[in-house]
Amino acid sequence: MTVQKALISGASIAGLSTAFWLSKAGWEVTVIERASTFRDGGQNVDVRGIAREVLQMMGLEDQVRNQTTTEEGTAFVNEKGQTVGAFPVEDSDGLTAELEILRGDLARIVLEALPAQVQVRYGDWIEHIVDHQEHVEIDLHSGKTEIYDLLIIAEGVRSRTRDKVFGDRVSRRELGLNIAYGTIERQAGDDRWWRWYTATGGRQISLRPDNQGTIRAMLAFKDRDRNLAAIPSEQARTELSKVFAGAGWEDSRVIDGFATSQDVYFDYLTQIMMSTWSEGRVCVTGDAAWCVTPIGGGGSSLALIGGYILAAFLSQPESNEAGGIPICLNKYEQWMRPIIDKAQHLPPGAPNFFYPQTKIGVGTMQTFIRIASFGPFRKLAARIGHVARTQQQLPDIRLVQTTT
Ligand SMILES: Cc1cc2nc3c(=O)[nH]c(=O)nc-3n(C[C@H](O)[C@H](O)[C@H](O)COP(=O)(O)OP(=O)(O)OC[C@H]3O[C@@H](n4cnc5c(N)ncnc54)[C@H](O)[C@@H]3O)c2cc1C
Repeated sequence: MTVQKALISGASIAGLSTAFWLSKAGWEVTVIERASTFRDGGQNVDVRGIAREVLQMMGLEDQVRNQTTTEEGTAFVNEKGQTVGAFPVEDSDGLTAELEILRGDLARIVLEALPAQVQVRYGDWIEHIVDHQEHVEIDLHSGKTEIYDLLIIAEGVRSRTRDKVFGDRVSRRELGLNIAYGTIERQAGDDRWWRWYTATGGRQISLRPDNQGTIRAMLAFKDRDRNLAAIPSEQARTELSKVFAGAGWEDSRVIDGFATSQDVYFDYLTQIMMSTWSEGRVCVTGDAAWCVTPIGGGGSSLALIGGYILAAFLSQPESNEAGGIPICLNKYEQWMRPIIDKAQHLPPGAPNFFYPQTKIGVGTMQTFIRIASFGPFRKLAARIGHVARTQQQLPDIRLVQTTT
């Protein structure tokens, strides 16, 4: 069998986990990343459902456990900071999952676990692709032209290469939600809970502990007519402070903190739906293929799972036969589709119910949370976090190198 070559574009959770498994399966793997160095940063992501199994098979579960954010649960609070309903970590996939980790830490763990022969190149990206049936020819921004057996696009929700290849087969579902994430100073009254406050006007403020002695804050609001991710960051911060003026609870602390925070990041939540995830020798994975958004939940878990599933089908001898790669890509898609469809299906009333406009709406939501946080209901409510679960067996992967 000839050794096959893959180019993976995007070095975050999806791209790196695919590189890990594909290399272990004997492929020659190159990863390119548009950013000039490894992209750290981001807030909590979680490893849920069968992604935990994948992580165990990668031999990385202990490392993730050692770097969790140590959050003890999720508490919904009122304007005075009093708890309305609390959901401690008692279900591995509850609102706070058992394995909560900063995105940058998870990405670094996978990066450092890559087999030595995987090449990771920063500061480069794809300009042009020609899919000759027997190989794919790629022109890179750096001026090189390279030939691969397969191109895997793992560039996240706003992937340009995906749009070039798949054009109008990519559809977007905008949820009308703006979220600003940032790191602020920890204060004496902060505990180890994720505290979540809902104000009128479709606004939310949340504070989460991390393992670095700081607090990860989030300001979210619902407004279909405003997209802060599309305007310059300084202007977005000014708009944000206007939107949150008078919201209550810790509004001024977070607004003041974001004014000097180095890592404020704006997102306008958008789900990605594609009629197909592959064409010839090009395929997509992770958020680029199926972004579920934090409302659907489990984006990083699905990226970890996707990397394994893609590599598992490509590890079969069939991929080395004439016309074999598209068959393997089709199997990957068939396996992943049901789990993605489920994750993209938002819970009833979401997101509107959770972003009430009026005092009555906030009161109704608080009553709902109070009831949901009682014993048996709590277990039921925790099921909102049950993403990345499936009855399907993980397919076997044929490894040429064992995992540690
Ligand atoms: C810096 C950062 C911070 C994040 N913070 C959070 C967070 O706080 N909460 C949350 O829920 N999710 C966050 N996410 C998204 C989260 O990582 C994903 O939802 C999930 O892990 C799936 O990952 P992915 O690898 O598919 O996509 P992403 O994590 O979005 O990674 C895509 C990668 O592709 C690279 N890329 C983009 N375009 C190109 C190109 N043309 N050529 C080459 N490389 C390209 C990007 O630089 C990035 O490294 C963040 C992502 C990033 C990159």
